[in-house]
Amino acid sequence: MAAILSIMRKASAVVSSLSPGYGSAEARQCTQAKSQALVVSQITRKGLSEKSIGGLLCLEFPYLKRGSQRGYNPPMTKRVAAVTGANRGIGFAASRLLAQNGFHVVLTSRSVQNGKAACLKLEEEGLDVSYIHLDVTDEFLIKQWKEKLEKGYGRCDVLVNNAGIMLDHHGPGVLKISSEIIEKTLRTNTLAPLHLVQAVIPLMKKHHYGRIVNVSSGLGQLTDMGNNWTAYRISKTALNAVTRILSAELQGTNVLVNSMCPGWVRTDMGGPNAERSPEQGADTILWLATLPDNGPSGGFFRDRAPIPW
Ligand code: NAP
Repeated sequence: MAAILSIMRKASAVVSSLSPGYGSAEARQCTQAKSQALVVSQITRKGLSEKSIGGLLCLEFPYLKRGSQRGYNPPMTKRVAAVTGANRGIGFAASRLLAQNGFHVVLTSRSVQNGKAACLKLEEEGLDVSYIHLDVTDEFLIKQWKEKLEKGYGRCDVLVNNAGIMLDHHGPGVLKISSEIIEKTLRTNTLAPLHLVQAVIPLMKKHHYGRIVNVSSGLGQLTDMGNNWTAYRISKTALNAVTRILSAELQGTNVLVNSMCPGWVRTDMGGPNAERSPEQGADTILWLATLPDNGPSGGFFRDRAPIPW
């Protein structure tokens, strides 16, 4: 009984300590009972710290975010980075790395549950992160994502186009591959990054600042083209073309657009035998996200160095 009372007291303390700066009074009132129940269950289940509980509440009830009734307002000096496919693999490692290096990171994913869990994990590490649902092939969600960035943050300084698929890992080979596999792969790996850039460019131009990192692959290099992974290779070569065209279009705007290859990385896509950790794969993403104003644009990089197209 004493333990339950102590948990209840802790839950109440956390919720009311959040109240002054978190959202409208109405919003707080209508979620108070629900959030207390959530806090109690989380304290009981995981023994979370108060900071983590604050983060958990903000994920569950976005309008309770600190400092704004609409969403989180980072200080104007704090750069905001959005990462696609951030729930696992290289996207998750890149999100952590960016947040550890002073960004407010907006993780996005197509599975709300997995994305929120990833976001909570980084919150528990004390990192400054938040979450927006985004299937990169869904144009309605892209529009919503753009509006949420505009209203909630007022800026998007960095976009990491990381989400990707490889559907032709085991064939069927260039002579038999269906248009369906190629089209699906192109929609995720090539068209989606372009659509996201189109959506976010006005925000970047507004602040005269932008760093766009397109996560490509050595498998898209024309200088080293092989005969397998047809759809994937085509999509990454085309993504590199998107990088070049955007970079030419955005000359003189201080929006720098680059492609990078993370190397062969131990993720669900790369498999357990790959030579690099996700953190090693994400290092060049951080480098490109933090380029100075006179940094390169329209390049293709691995390990912070140019590689052939
Ligand atoms: P991964 O572990 O398979 O992760 C892929 C991520 O993309 C997942 O979060 C996945 O979400 C997400 N995703 C796929 N389709 C999506 C969609 N329609 N909307 C939103 N998210 C979507 O792969 P990874 O190795 O981390 O790969 C990340 C990037 O690096 C990819 O662009 C890949 O091509 C590139 N890359 C990887 C390697 C390597 O060796 N691993 C090498 C070169 C390049 P779900 O969890 O919902 O599926």
